[in-house]
Amino acid sequence: MIKLKSREEIELMRESAQLVSKTLGMLTPEIRPGVTTLYLDQLAETFIKDHRAVPGFLGLYDFPNSLCISVNEQVVHGIPNDKPLREGDIVSIDCGVLKNGYYGDHAYTFPVGEISTETNRLLEVTKESLYLGIEQISAGKRIGDVSYAIQRHTEKYGYGVVRELVGHGLGKEMHESPEVPNYGKRGRGPVIKNGLVLAVEPMINMGTRKVKQLNDGWTIVTADGRPSAHFEHNVAVVDGKADILSTFDYIEEALEKVNN
Ligand code: MG
Ligand code: MG
Repeated sequence: MIKLKSREEIELMRESAQLVSKTLGMLTPEIRPGVTTLYLDQLAETFIKDHRAVPGFLGLYDFPNSLCISVNEQVVHGIPNDKPLREGDIVSIDCGVLKNGYYGDHAYTFPVGEISTETNRLLEVTKESLYLGIEQISAGKRIGDVSYAIQRHTEKYGYGVVRELVGHGLGKEMHESPEVPNYGKRGRGPVIKNGLVLAVEPMINMGTRKVKQLNDGWTIVTADGRPSAHFEHNVAVVDGKADILSTFDYIEEALEKVNN
C-alpha cells in the first residue's frame, strides 16, 4: 500500500533528508587517499547523533554500520572496513537517518583524488540520469516514466542498469511502496500523486548489469569487476510537482574547495 504524506509530514521528511545532505557534505573533505571507510562511518555516526537523530541503517535488517560504503566494483551495501582508500578509487556513500519519526535516505558517488576520464563519465551520466528521472515526477505520470528516463539515458552510453536493486517509497519506514526500478516502460506502474515521497536511486554499472553478492551477506558487486555508481535523492510530490527534499549542494561546494 502506498502511504501518501501530508504537507506537515513532508516538511519533517525534508529535515531528515537535509540532515543526510549535511552529513554527506561534512564527509566530503575527508574522502581522500589513505582514509578508511570505517573512519568515515564513525564520523557520520557521531555527526548524526549530535544532530539528535538516529543513523537509519545501523541495525536495519541487522546491517552493522551507519553508512553503506561501496568502493569501485561494489554497487551498494558495502560494509565499512579498515582498508585505506586509494587515489583513483570511487566511493559510493549511502546514508540514512531517522529524525522525528521519518527517514531520510540518499547517496552520492565520490572520486578519491584524480579518477580516470572513463570513470568520471560514469559518475556524470549516472547523476544526470537521476535528474532526468526526477524530471518525470509529476502528478498523473507513472513510476514507469521515471524508470524509462533513467534506463534510456544510461544505456545510451552502453552502461548496465542493475535490475536486482531499486528505488522505493520513503516515510516512517525506510522502504515503503512503491518500488522505483531504474529500468522500465513509459506509462506503466503506479500513478504518481500528490503526497508521494520517493527515493530515486540509479545504480549504474560501467559494464554488465549483472551483479552478485559477496560472502559477507551484504556487499553487492558487479559480475565483471568494473566500477559502478549510485546517486540518490528524496523527492516529494507537492502541488503536482517534484520537490527534491535532499540536496547535493553541501557535497559539491566541498568538492569545489578540495579541487581549488
Ligand atoms: Mg540510500
Ligand atoms: Mg534508498
